[in-house]
Amino acid sequence: MAKQLNVVVWNEFRHEKTKEEVKALYPNGLHAVIKEFLDEDTTLNVRLAALDDPDQGLPDEVLNQTDVLIWWGHKSHKDVSDELTQKIRDRVFLGMGFIALHSGHHSKPFRAIIGTNGNLSWGRNQKEVIWNLMPSHPITKGIPDHFILESEELYSEPFYIPQPDALLFGAWFEDGHIFRAGACFHRGAGKVFYFQPGHETCRSFFNPYVRTIIRNAVHWAAPNETGYEITDECPHLLDKVTDEFSK
Ligand code: ZN
Repeated sequence: MAKQLNVVVWNEFRHEKTKEEVKALYPNGLHAVIKEFLDEDTTLNVRLAALDDPDQGLPDEVLNQTDVLIWWGHKSHKDVSDELTQKIRDRVFLGMGFIALHSGHHSKPFRAIIGTNGNLSWGRNQKEVIWNLMPSHPITKGIPDHFILESEELYSEPFYIPQPDALLFGAWFEDGHIFRAGACFHRGAGKVFYFQPGHETCRSFFNPYVRTIIRNAVHWAAPNETGYEITDECPHLLDKVTDEFSK
């Protein structure tokens, strides 16, 4: 059996406590719904974390054991500490996977990891068509050439991200806007996936294709089994290589 992957679903978890509409849709938080469908995959060991938990949900002993961190934040990005942001970025550079969902485009960790401000334009909730641009990629496995979300928040280009290493999904919105809805980045030893659906008043996290994409992304973003430890330093290798040649 494949190794259990430690997955943390981090949610700001404030809209669900203050807005009736969101509470009705996600009574235990949208992160609980994400955990519920990820739990169907027995190779995943999924836990929840929230901004108002001790250590903002990610004490060192949890973060250091995390293989893939899923992030949903919106109105309280600024409340995430700079210290935690840097720890997350450093963990990604050493191999931890990071998946930013929806308004996570503006989260401190996502911006720190990818290196741009992640700005975009946005508008009213409306119908969205998501096109599969890369059927050969592991994250698009099981996804048809397109699928429709009846109501999602309009996100529009220009989206100020670095040129993605792989662009998996393109979105069309009924007001005529387009958006790079799913994009992969490699940062150091880590893999990063941004995925646009998931506004707090919409039902996208109940869509079977959205669920498949997030589950596939967890497996894709998991650290590779390297057989050696990746550390935050530049080791001096000359002696080691010389030793191997002289055997
Ligand atoms: Zn939103």
